Amino acid sequence: MNTAQIKELNDKHVINTYGARKLALVRGEGVTLWDADGKEYLDFFAGIAVTNLGHCHPKVTEAIRKQAGTLVHVSNLYYIEPQVELAALLAKHTFAPRWFFCNCGATANEAAIKIARRYWVQKGTPKPELVAMNQSFHGRTIAAITATGQPKYQEGFEPLLPGIHHVPFDDIGALAGAITPQVGAVMLEPIQGEGGVRIPSEGYLKAVRALCTERNVLLIFDEVQTGMGRTGKFMAHELDGITPDIVTLAKGLANGVPMGALGCTEDVASGFSVGSHACTFGGNPLSSAAAVATLNVLLAPGFLENVVKTGAYLMSGLQGLAKNHSVITEVRGKGLMFGVEMKEPVAPVIGKMLDRGIICGPAGPNVLRFLPPLVITTAHVDRAISTLDDILGGR
Ligand SMILES: *Cc1c(COP(=O)(O)O)cnc(C)c1O
Repeated sequence: MNTAQIKELNDKHVINTYGARKLALVRGEGVTLWDADGKEYLDFFAGIAVTNLGHCHPKVTEAIRKQAGTLVHVSNLYYIEPQVELAALLAKHTFAPRWFFCNCGATANEAAIKIARRYWVQKGTPKPELVAMNQSFHGRTIAAITATGQPKYQEGFEPLLPGIHHVPFDDIGALAGAITPQVGAVMLEPIQGEGGVRIPSEGYLKAVRALCTERNVLLIFDEVQTGMGRTGKFMAHELDGITPDIVTLAKGLANGVPMGALGCTEDVASGFSVGSHACTFGGNPLSSAAAVATLNVLLAPGFLENVVKTGAYLMSGLQGLAKNHSVITEVRGKGLMFGVEMKEPVAPVIGKMLDRGIICGPAGPNVLRFLPPLVITTAHVDRAISTLDDILGGR
């Protein structure tokens, strides 16, 4: 099918939650994508921080092929070899000795909210309420949109879940004031992604950790976007030298095969017992094998160091653009996660980048977001920067 044919079928049969789009991408290799009409693109969005190793990474493709010819699915009524390999690998490289697997970011956060509630019930001191952040994004289930501190994702879906409160991000005083005796957990993204690539001030996350410990509430980090090497560390909280009680992962976990995960301490894991939570596809052989292959590439010596290096190169390129184009008000970034805030809506800029063969996206109306595959090179960065320079110059 060509793009027009794909669009026609979409408009007729797919529920219109995503609106009109310009492209139908049909093939990818590394940082390159091709549309249905054969045009080539440089990918600076990675399917929203998903294909962190680039498209069709040979190691992941090989693992998927092998697993697809061996066993695609069995239920969690049986032990699953690739799932336990994955759990052991995650345990080895993170603070979390225990893991639960699901299908996406929203269901990972749903599991986090559930385990936090049940943990306190098990301890004999129920405190079911949760504090989350304004401008956050946690996914689209009812619990997740309630935790998401952006009304646009909630409108029309009321009644929302009771007992979830919001405070301004990066404001430790507001958080301290919101932790009442009914609150059992605090949930936040170490860097807010969807909400505009917002990086909290130095020391904030450390202070949040200390506050949660002092008030005896669980700290949940949603690392669905910031995890899997995006910030130059395996998980973003490592940048601050702290650990949460619960972490959620998804997006980049299996480099494009749908998968979510919740990791936690041994103590928190006791919040769930036999029968208290489940997921039919969770940790199935195919997605687990893809995730194991992904982790093996990501955690190989030198990989994350390279993310830091390329990220610094992209940062200096963007800062150079900010000097020359007054429409840019701020450049924010860590590793290879960037937000370029502008005085005007960024949608036209994204459209012009696409016309010039570069894929990037927004984080809210005025923030241009770059989430390139972590394997981009400085030559790719040069191309993206000079294209953006041209577009901003020719506005
Ligand atoms: C994308 C995202 C989610 C939701 O993930 P889905 O896989 O779309 O359910 C949750 N939290 C954060 C921080 C995200 O970026």
